[in-house]
Amino acid sequence: MIVPMETESLPVDRIRQDFPILQRRIRGHRLIYLDSAATSQKPESVINAELDAYRKFNANVHRGAYLIAEEATAAYEGARKKIARFLNAPDPSSIIFTRGTTEAINLVAYSWGWSHLKPGDQILITEMEHHSNIVPWQLIAERTGASLAVVPILDDGTLDLEALDRLLTERVKLVAVTHVSNVLGTINPIKEICEKARQVGATTLVDGAQAAPHLSVDVTALGCDFYALSGHKMLGPTGSGVLYGRKEILEAMPPFLGGGEMIRTVTFEKTTFNDVPYKFEAGTPAIAQAIGLGAAVDYLEAVGRERIRAHEKALTAYALTRLQEIPELTIYGKAPPDGRGGVIAFNAGDIHPHDLATFLDAYGICIRAGHHCAQPLMRRLNVAATARISFYLYNDEDDIDTCTTALKKALEFFGR
Ligand code: PMP
Repeated sequence: MIVPMETESLPVDRIRQDFPILQRRIRGHRLIYLDSAATSQKPESVINAELDAYRKFNANVHRGAYLIAEEATAAYEGARKKIARFLNAPDPSSIIFTRGTTEAINLVAYSWGWSHLKPGDQILITEMEHHSNIVPWQLIAERTGASLAVVPILDDGTLDLEALDRLLTERVKLVAVTHVSNVLGTINPIKEICEKARQVGATTLVDGAQAAPHLSVDVTALGCDFYALSGHKMLGPTGSGVLYGRKEILEAMPPFLGGGEMIRTVTFEKTTFNDVPYKFEAGTPAIAQAIGLGAAVDYLEAVGRERIRAHEKALTAYALTRLQEIPELTIYGKAPPDGRGGVIAFNAGDIHPHDLATFLDAYGICIRAGHHCAQPLMRRLNVAATARISFYLYNDEDDIDTCTTALKKALEFFGR
């Protein structure tokens, strides 16, 4: 069941009923899932869309001469259209299905990066990037002779925009930046950054893994050249993701992977390639997953993205207030609820975040502990790891209250 839009605030209890896993009890407790930044839970409609793809019209896409193959193709291409609309991309052919954000960024690194970068060029990233927006650029820099430059963050966890201005020289050929930090929660001023990058002729890539699930993302208004996202963080299946690319740039790019589907003609002497997006979708794609992602988009749109954002903003403000009741906690990232997504990273004195997560698990509370694939940021924060809670449309103040109480008990238990 998809929740209709009849009220302003989110009817979280009813939304939860759409998520089978949230009916589970963990060691006698209600499951409280506060790790949606790692992966989101899936509503029944997404699970059913994927199951239906296997149960009713399982066939390969783009080549079937029979009804179920046509149905599979229509559902797969239908999902592409939904995602194009969701991101306000001008054309579904600018949407490439990938396994997730990591693969989307690697696609750009190996295709665009390898063919465009040369010695002396710079790739500008930021200090708050996830490893998946650092490592592909390092690998491609090694192959091309380009180098990495890094925009630092300020102590409040926002980007140092003055440093960005200084670093954004004509040498910079690509600016690759996260839309929302998966640790600090900071929402970066992407439109402004893309405009500045354009002024020096740089191409822009936005890591939207933590933004697309939560904000109303409009790639046309943002003015970015590439936008990467993970379907599994926005109610969709694992193995689903998207790279949006500006059509002219995609058309000029060489293929990423070679194989079936991405070709027009093949001889032993020469191969010509298919049009975009197929040029970048070699082999049999993740058909059922893409269809599931289409159902996730339907679900998010039916609930209303503005409403989800408003709910998460209020929840983040509430959580920040509740967590500040615990003086032993250090919270990383000080952007106000308006300028941050539903992610809060913290440490409780010298208790190891893994111990904290294990303690909370005894109460059915799932939180993340570790370096969050952001080791350079951990170094900047002068910590090895942090605990992290993150919210989505199925969380409410009760979840925060239970988590706050459990954190207070943890501090008692560990003698702090
Ligand atoms: N970027 C950010 C900001 C992320 O939070 C994540 C996932 N933790 C990724 C990239 C990578 O996404 P995926 O593992 O789905 O490819």
